[in-house]
Amino acid sequence: MRLLIVEDEKRLAVSLAKGLTAEGFAVDVVHDGFEGLHLASEHPYDLLLLDIMLPGMNGYRVCSTLRAAGNDVPILMLTAKDGEYDEAEGLDTGADDYLTKPFSYVVLLARIRALLRRRGSAGSSPLLTVGALTLDTAARRVHRDGDEVTLTAKEFAVLEQLALRPGAVVSKAEMLEHVWDFAYEGDPNIVEVYISTLRRKLGAARIQTVRGAGYRLVAVGGTGAVDGAGEA
Ligand code: CA
Repeated sequence: MRLLIVEDEKRLAVSLAKGLTAEGFAVDVVHDGFEGLHLASEHPYDLLLLDIMLPGMNGYRVCSTLRAAGNDVPILMLTAKDGEYDEAEGLDTGADDYLTKPFSYVVLLARIRALLRRRGSAGSSPLLTVGALTLDTAARRVHRDGDEVTLTAKEFAVLEQLALRPGAVVSKAEMLEHVWDFAYEGDPNIVEVYISTLRRKLGAARIQTVRGAGYRLVAVGGTGAVDGAGEA
């Protein structure tokens, strides 16, 4: 899941980015409304944290411009203090939710997860099940045949991208786009490193390589038997 933070209080922006990165999100940060609008228009973010009082262009305008362009990315507005934010105006411009500063990090995280779930599945179940694997996308935990498998935040994020579309091919580029952030300019083969760790932890048969295209997660039953499809 890739988030964009548009916040001109740099210390706050950096600390939010740090915390959210540790939770396994890919996070980009900009400090200006125009830049925020530009990035949000160019990249398929999963969620925006949008401050209201910003240099360049304020948060209301960033939000209404995105909505006018048909962009329905979930937007959580951040506001400095009671009174600055006009809730009616914010919701009018198309924001999904808002938080008044100072807010607790735990509350922020809960709101972010709620917005992502709301968009992810209408039934809003945080559970993704693929064969004997169950991912709890709210608690960021994975179980295989009922036993928890310990994954790092990044490993979980890679697995989640595959589990959102079981059986479908997810390209390295899509993984990089959603799991790594804007600042990542390293080797795209980093994805392979994570895939190989996931295979080791979860069973190699579960993640197939589709040469030249990407990877797919297949349902492998509780007995450990493969569902028939071999490696491409
Ligand atoms: Ca501000």
